[in-house]
Amino acid sequence: MWPVLTILACLGFGALHFWWKRRYDEAREKLIDQTGQNAGLQEQQQHALARAQAQQLALFNSMVEGVLLLDGNERVQLVNQALEQLFGLNGDIRGRTMMEALRLHELQELASRVRAEGQVLGFELELPGMDDRSLQINATALLDRDGKPQGMILVFHDLTRLKQLENTRQEFVANVSHELRTPLSMIKGYVETLINGAKDDPNVAMRFLQTIEKHTDRLTYLIEDLLTISRLESGQIVMNLQQVELRPAAEDVVNDLQSRAGDKRVHLENQVPQNVTVRADADRVQQVLFNLVDNAIKYGRPEGRVWISARLADGQFAEISVRDNGPGIPPDSIDRVFERFYRADKARSREQGGTGLGLSIVKHIVQSHGGEVWVESDLGQGTTFFFTLPLT
Ligand code: ADP
Repeated sequence: MWPVLTILACLGFGALHFWWKRRYDEAREKLIDQTGQNAGLQEQQQHALARAQAQQLALFNSMVEGVLLLDGNERVQLVNQALEQLFGLNGDIRGRTMMEALRLHELQELASRVRAEGQVLGFELELPGMDDRSLQINATALLDRDGKPQGMILVFHDLTRLKQLENTRQEFVANVSHELRTPLSMIKGYVETLINGAKDDPNVAMRFLQTIEKHTDRLTYLIEDLLTISRLESGQIVMNLQQVELRPAAEDVVNDLQSRAGDKRVHLENQVPQNVTVRADADRVQQVLFNLVDNAIKYGRPEGRVWISARLADGQFAEISVRDNGPGIPPDSIDRVFERFYRADKARSREQGGTGLGLSIVKHIVQSHGGEVWVESDLGQGTTFFFTLPLT
């Protein structure tokens, strides 16, 4: 009986053992499987985290605004590329205070205001010496759940370009008002003098009326030039590109200005070779040549000479030049003659009915064709204006 019971017990134990072993192996396999899955999951999570971090960093660095993040001790924790460029930083400034890193005591003031007020918007900062940059900063304190300060974030907007545009606009309005007011007050003065008795002297009356006519002409040119500039800038004048042969274009300008040149006994010479053809707007090319030749007559010397020439600059552009043998442009004015309303010789420009806009129109038109314009001048020897236009 005992052996049978022993055998049965052994069988039962064996069965139990195998059953447990199977359960154990199954559980082990499951565990290994799960651990493997966990490791995979962990790896996936790490990848997702790294991807999110890379995206955040890319976003942070692609921002136009400069961003500076300070930790609870007000030391730099993070800066983006825009901020590094704005301040010309080339080393790592993390861990430093703002004063150590940027050396601007105004930022210390800003930080203490943020500490006191929680947020400061529209803080203006000028950076002298760094192209006179104008910055606007929005700063916010970072607080934890209990409202304890954890640092602050400062966002820097570069307003330099906007301010420059605003200055240019204000300057332009001031210049236009001045240019309009000058001939108008002259006209008014002469009309009043005529009314007060000058009309009774035919010689004086004629002289005054001629002067009035000259000033009304100046006003008309000014309005025309202003309209041209405004249409060019707003893109209302669309360049009607076609093949323009330069020699006949220059010949037309010479014919149009012949009588004006004759008044000063200036000799105009068209030296443009045959068959130089550019791809341009024919009317605008004529306008450029007209303004340059007109200036050469106005500011050249009496009985002087003006030459119009052209050559192939490289395989892609024609270089056209208008040269005179007049008194030239002083070196301190040469870089400014293409600015609106800039005149190297104010008295002469006014006397000649100049608007101060001729060369800015030239520059605009040439650049709209993808060309360049520049000037060379020798005092007492003469001036040459050059411009390039694309060949067909
Ligand atoms: P403006 O209406 O006064 O002629 P522009 O824009 O055409 O205006 O020219 C700007 C200034 O450049 C002129 O006032 C003049 O002082 C100078 N300038 C232009 N062309 C010549 C030239 N050929 N020789 C000397 N000075 C010139």
